Amino acid sequence: RKPVRSQPDPQNEDLLDDDDDEEADEESNNESIEPEADNSAIEELSWIETSANILTNLPRGVDFHAAEQILNEVIIKGDEVHWSDIAGLDIAKSALKENVVYPFLRPDLFRGLREPARGILLFGPPGTGKTMLARAVASESKSTFFAISASSLTSKFLGESEKLVRALFSLAKQLAPSVIFVDEIDSLLSARSDSGEHETSRRIKTEFLIQWSDLARAAAGREATGPNAGDASRVLVLAATNAPWAIDDAARRRFVRRQYIPLPEDEVRAAQLKTLLANQKQDLSEEDVAKLVGLTEGFSGSDITALTKDAAMGPLRSLGDRLLLTRSEDIRPISLLDFESSLLKIRPSVNKQGLQQFEDWATEYGERG
Ligand code: ADP
Repeated sequence: RKPVRSQPDPQNEDLLDDDDDEEADEESNNESIEPEADNSAIEELSWIETSANILTNLPRGVDFHAAEQILNEVIIKGDEVHWSDIAGLDIAKSALKENVVYPFLRPDLFRGLREPARGILLFGPPGTGKTMLARAVASESKSTFFAISASSLTSKFLGESEKLVRALFSLAKQLAPSVIFVDEIDSLLSARSDSGEHETSRRIKTEFLIQWSDLARAAAGREATGPNAGDASRVLVLAATNAPWAIDDAARRRFVRRQYIPLPEDEVRAAQLKTLLANQKQDLSEEDVAKLVGLTEGFSGSDITALTKDAAMGPLRSLGDRLLLTRSEDIRPISLLDFESSLLKIRPSVNKQGLQQFEDWATEYGERG
């Protein structure tokens, strides 16, 4: 995930297409350097201005450096994801539209009985599109997207984590509508962190739960709103986990919606394969795709992506050193054989037993989609 900073002004309806940024990122070929949004110096300047403005008017109790860190490292904009980029998951998409996107865009319609959930949990095997869904929610609702992984909260920002959590919620309110996406939420809200052996994690967990409750209270209008308090009613905590059973009971109950993000069904794998191959030189027939669908039973979306990328290397691999002298138009198309040899290396990352655990948890605590 590459943070690309840009103007997070929620009023800005004309968000620029950031494709150019992505190309620039790839060209730079250096993952460790934070890429700069170069499609618009003006956009970058106005983001600097917005950040400076926020930093000079921080509400009381919010640490300057923590806020700075959130502005620089946690807010993500740029490489937008849209619903159509995500194969399948129609029920999850509708649930997220109804619970987040529409309420963010039309808050006037979602009051009282229709008040949206403040916390949504996406759970399921790794690589099934949970992060993509969160990014799509942010893009489609034109929200500021705060992305943080629970493990980076507890390790990277050690010692400063509680301040960071406070700054996170404060900025999310100021820059509302906002989506706070917490990946690996199980490691933040696990039952284990209550045991006392991880004092720091316990404190971070407590601070997170306090901030989250304050948000709900402020949204319901039961809390005095000071200067720069922002709009708590348009902040959502969206969390993802591959280990939902590790979340403690009380924390789990705070996620009013718990959406199961399962492995893709046959037709979804077919659709994803077709999308990935759409602009490639390839000679797969409908029957070949159907065969591949059968061979990829149990694959996650990210397994399918990895498989297709590997198969796409097939025509180049078969050239060996001749690759250097071959014109691009003379490279042979990707074929079923390429997939078949890639399938010898690339295997599904979730086994049947692991899957059953998700199914059982979904039956007991989740919604299917
Ligand atoms: P998760 O958060 O569930 O672990 P991600 O959303 O990060 O998984 O997905 C990882 C990668 O796998 C994506 O970047 C994408 O290439 C691919 N992928 C996963 N699920 C899907 C899907 N439903 N549609 C299209 N691509 C997918």
